[in-house]
Amino acid sequence: MKALLPASETEAAAIISANRGAGLRVTGDTKLDYSGEGAFVSAARITGVTSYEPRDFTVSALAGSHLEEVTALLAENGQQLAFEPPSYGLQTTIGAIAALNASGPRRPFAGAARDALLHARFVSGLGEVVSAGSCVLKSVAGLDLTKLLAGSFGNFAFLTEVTFRVGSVAEAERTLILSFANSADFPAYVSRLICDGVPITGAAHLSPAVSREILPVSSSATAIRLEGTERALAEVAKGIATPKTFVDGAASAAIWRAIGSARTLFPDSHGVLWRITGRPSQGGELAARLAQIGADTLTDWRGGLVWVWHHDVAAAPMVMSAITDTPSAHARLICGPEELAPVRRIKAGEERFERAMKQALDPENTFDARPYFQGFAVGEKP
Ligand SMILES: Cc1cc2nc3c(=O)[nH]c(=O)nc-3n(C[C@H](O)[C@H](O)[C@H](O)COP(=O)(O)OP(=O)(O)OC[C@H]3O[C@@H](n4cnc5c(N)ncnc54)[C@H](O)[C@@H]3O)c2cc1C
Repeated sequence: MKALLPASETEAAAIISANRGAGLRVTGDTKLDYSGEGAFVSAARITGVTSYEPRDFTVSALAGSHLEEVTALLAENGQQLAFEPPSYGLQTTIGAIAALNASGPRRPFAGAARDALLHARFVSGLGEVVSAGSCVLKSVAGLDLTKLLAGSFGNFAFLTEVTFRVGSVAEAERTLILSFANSADFPAYVSRLICDGVPITGAAHLSPAVSREILPVSSSATAIRLEGTERALAEVAKGIATPKTFVDGAASAAIWRAIGSARTLFPDSHGVLWRITGRPSQGGELAARLAQIGADTLTDWRGGLVWVWHHDVAAAPMVMSAITDTPSAHARLICGPEELAPVRRIKAGEERFERAMKQALDPENTFDARPYFQGFAVGEKP
């Protein structure tokens, strides 16, 4: 594929203008070896933190900046991105995090990347440079176009700069590990703890094979992350009577980095892997049903996100049937034969808005995000 590597927003606008209607793939820094026909435009050379003032609780960075660079800078000041970006590897760019609306284990407790995205600069499919949203926490900006770009997968625009809200890092963290015979029971348990005021910032259930990779146990287990002051966490520990194990500090952080990197916990050389999102109250039950047909699962987001891997591609119809029987579930094929990835990603009502956005920002199909748009919605039996 032809590589288009602008070094600035102005260059990006000129390149995109000259390639109107070309069906460009948009990429950060990890896909520079794209093969095949056509061309891709990458943000890899548009890098650097453009604005960071700890007292303002915001950070702005050019889209090709590595996420690690941004988070390391925030950590020097005891801060972190207000949402928790997942750990997708050192080359991950901050623009991709925004474009994917990529949100780690903290999502149900602190919001998604979309919620923390305050401002974005981008080049539309017509080559126009646009600035949307506002770089400050309290803003009266009208139409919040930035929110619509979060999760757009490079389909509407080429992001050049993003501004995220930041927050403070807690004094202490510890992970509580509990065993539940059935994954269906853990979301309700977590809800009870939250009602009791327990400061939870992560809740996941792991099937035995996944557990063995990252927890000090080999059976299926529930991991619950607690964050707060040392004193508050010590009090919480006293109040939990259920048999439990605690993991503190750096070891606890490593567990949640691994949970956030999800995909890397499953083999990608064989079998089939899906990522399913849906209502938290249904995720535990779905994982329990999938376990019965021999699948390995990682259920994060308090039940709202289920990763499912099956070693046997022939079992795929059973897995897909369990997914389509779950009313709120939406699945994306991550690894496996392409024929298992039906083409629709979104529900009919949402599709109308997606088309309108495409028409407004990229009416000539300058960008082509099809490789990322595989999935199916409930009601469409694959
Ligand atoms: C649904 C999904 C789930 C994933 N889950 C995991 C996981 O669990 N663990 C893991 O390690 N990795 C995961 N990945 C891979 C991860 O996204 C990438 O490999 C990587 O870390 C991001 O790399 P990148 O910055 O080069 O962006 P890319 O991989 O090149 O791009 C990611 C997406 O963002 C868009 N994008 C990138 N930059 C821009 C920009 N400047 N403007 C507009 N759009 C842009 C792309 O078009 C693409 O849709 C997942 C990817 C997807 C799509």
